[in-house]
Amino acid sequence: MKRAEIRARLDEWRREGRFEPRCDSWLAGFDEDFSRLLGAEGWIGLTWGPEYGGHGRGFAERFVLTEELLRAGAPVAGHWIADRQIGPAVARLGTEELRRHILPRIAAGEARFCLGMSEPDAGSDLASVRTRATRVDGGWALHGQKVWSSNAHRATHAYVLARTSDGTKRHEGLTEFVLDLDQPGVTVRRIPDLRGPGHFCEVFLDGATVPDAWVLGTVGNGWTQVTEQLSFERGGPERVLSTYPLLRLMLDSGGGPRLGELVARLTALRALGRQVAARMDAGEAPIAAAATLKLLGNRFEVDVIEAARELTRAGVGAAAWPRFAAMLADAQLSAPGFSLRGGTTEVLGVVVARSALEGAR
Ligand SMILES: Cc1cc2nc3c(=O)[nH]c(=O)nc-3n(C[C@H](O)[C@H](O)[C@H](O)COP(=O)(O)OP(=O)(O)OC[C@H]3O[C@@H](n4cnc5c(N)ncnc54)[C@H](O)[C@@H]3O)c2cc1C
Repeated sequence: MKRAEIRARLDEWRREGRFEPRCDSWLAGFDEDFSRLLGAEGWIGLTWGPEYGGHGRGFAERFVLTEELLRAGAPVAGHWIADRQIGPAVARLGTEELRRHILPRIAAGEARFCLGMSEPDAGSDLASVRTRATRVDGGWALHGQKVWSSNAHRATHAYVLARTSDGTKRHEGLTEFVLDLDQPGVTVRRIPDLRGPGHFCEVFLDGATVPDAWVLGTVGNGWTQVTEQLSFERGGPERVLSTYPLLRLMLDSGGGPRLGELVARLTALRALGRQVAARMDAGEAPIAAAATLKLLGNRFEVDVIEAARELTRAGVGAAAWPRFAAMLADAQLSAPGFSLRGGTTEVLGVVVARSALEGAR
């Protein structure tokens, strides 16, 4: 897949009015029709096999495609989580029945996933999850509460991390499930954010069921599996490019004393992102490298906003550039979440430092 061809296609769609570029488009830009359009184009499910509706390409190729989608500010939130981490997790760990059911639907842009990891008392400390799965005939019944599940109100399915037994250690006894949200026992409530009603939701589970075939991987092995999955969640270009459309406006207009520094940092971050993708293609789950990318990438995303604000404060006319003020304001409303979602700065620092210490031993 050639970068220039992707760019040309996206330009065409933008000119046709199929989307308006925005910052944070992978979380805030939710457009089911656009996800279906990308599915029809063959741009979802790149990393899994054609027998499951995918395209048999690697993470390195997906890296190029996702970079271009983010650079364009295209509304990709509808399929992002499914394409980035749940699809690959199902391809690696799911039963044949689950693969055949869900992967083609994700690749078509029809199955939309939310992430049910966090709970009111389990965020950074994910091993504290209290949502419980109990045995029922042919599967499991889920009871508990998830919170901050982005776009759950528009999702068809959820990934749920739940406790299936009480191990002697907290990290034992966790299991990963794929849950069909269209059933009794599921209640989704939206949580307002700075914009008012946004993507945040809480999900209440009161006896919702999951068949055995929809368990991901091994019962009780959820901690190891979710830790690996986090490298897919943290290691992509969306942890660097959430504010790229704003940087693009500054570049196009030639404005700002900090542009050189920002572009230099972006070049280094992209090199790291490509390394992470190559290691995923080699079958690794590069946990520390992905944490490094997110840690440094989030700082970069916020610094782009700060540089844009400096321009408006310096009165260089930036406020008059088309779309600049609106895009800056929108980016500012997303920014508080950058360093929290997918692991906070402090927690990522712990992951990186621990890995360095282990390497030094
Ligand atoms: C925009 C956004 C989207 C999100 N989407 C989802 C989603 O779709 N699904 C989902 O499950 N969750 C989602 N989350 C939740 C997110 O994963 C959690 O907010 C995050 O893991 C932090 O957990 P917490 O909010 O409970 O904070 P806490 O874990 O309570 O942390 C509070 C503070 O303590 C610090 N801290 C905690 N532990 C340590 C430590 N060991 N060492 C040093 N400092 C520490 C943290 O860095 C933080 O500053 C989203 C969050 C945001 C902001």
